[in-house]
Amino acid sequence: MKRHFETRAIHDGQAPDPATGAVVPPIYQTSTFAQSAPAEHKGYEYARTGNPTRAALETAVASLEEGTYGLAFASGMAAITTVAYLLRPGDHVLLPDDVYGGTYRLFVRVLQRYGIESSYVDMTDLTRVEGALTARTRMVLAETPTNPYLKILDLARIAELAHARDAVVVVDNTFASPYFQRPLLLGTDVVVHSTTKYLGGHSDVVGGVAVTSSKELYETLKFHQNAAGAVPGPFDCWLVLRGLRTLAVRMDVHARNAMRVAEFLRSQHGVSRVFYPGLPDHPGHEIARRQMTGFGGMVSFTLTGGAAAARAVASAVQVFTLAESLGGVESLLDHPASMTHASLAGSPLQVDPGLLRLSVGIEHPDDLVEDMRQALGAAPA
Ligand SMILES: *Cc1c(COP(=O)(O)O)cnc(C)c1O
Repeated sequence: MKRHFETRAIHDGQAPDPATGAVVPPIYQTSTFAQSAPAEHKGYEYARTGNPTRAALETAVASLEEGTYGLAFASGMAAITTVAYLLRPGDHVLLPDDVYGGTYRLFVRVLQRYGIESSYVDMTDLTRVEGALTARTRMVLAETPTNPYLKILDLARIAELAHARDAVVVVDNTFASPYFQRPLLLGTDVVVHSTTKYLGGHSDVVGGVAVTSSKELYETLKFHQNAAGAVPGPFDCWLVLRGLRTLAVRMDVHARNAMRVAEFLRSQHGVSRVFYPGLPDHPGHEIARRQMTGFGGMVSFTLTGGAAAARAVASAVQVFTLAESLGGVESLLDHPASMTHASLAGSPLQVDPGLLRLSVGIEHPDDLVEDMRQALGAAPA
């Protein structure tokens, strides 16, 4: 019988160390490995190419994503950059119109110089996805729930449309985590993560991973992982692995608390809209129920008082911390227009300055609701 997610999170890739019996995979803090004769070794030669602590993480994440192969990177952006090495000059990539800001910047400010074109559409509208695919589209990079509007994309349908044109489908699964969503089972080709977020889960490490079940894609990505060299150090891999083991219990609490906070916000006069896929009137709720096993820990909302009110709330929070990033045990509040999404100002993708984004942590939900109540009280109507 295939083991359950919670069990695999703790055991896959993490058998006791064969040399010593250490129950926790050791941090192999070494750059090179002894060879018994030239090119004869125990599977490791140089630590950019492979390291046992990294291999443990790669195996564990691949298992949780229901994939065959995992690759770890120095950051989420390093993972996405390495996936972009699948492209050639003249290729076109289709992305969601509220894709992660760093991914947008990578495609527009870096990869465009290498002849890679990208375009951005609202991928909740499948006719627009279909219309935006061209003969040169080689990749669709989807993200769901999206950031910061938490739109839900229908991954199975997007994969069908993209595959009809022989484009590779990559999903940034950072927001849902594999506990709530397994895109490879929906027919997509590669999953990427910023492990900085829920997988690490404690806001103490920056990292990324890519997972696939295609041997061909894996071999190309593995070649580029080593050739470009954006690999994580063993201690960072160890931290992400430690986070992974509690992913299931953390995600359950993140989602439960997020629902509590979303429902509270919706009852407040100063709040004009609440974006949370767990709310039955969220436009993506039905698709989310089908393709996810939980709705995640991210909640966004707009204030009737607009930008001034958003700034006032952002400065008044006490349990929530005003900070970029997400996915840690502690609750964070972000003002996307001036923080995470500031680089989109003036572009067609710019974010409403009256919007706030919450990464709801695993503190006691009453304390989170109380903090929101007092912070909303600080906002001009
Ligand atoms: C944070 C994030 C990234 C980038 O990851 P880093 O680890 O910061 O490089 C990519 N995608 C999403 C959805 C993210 O939240």
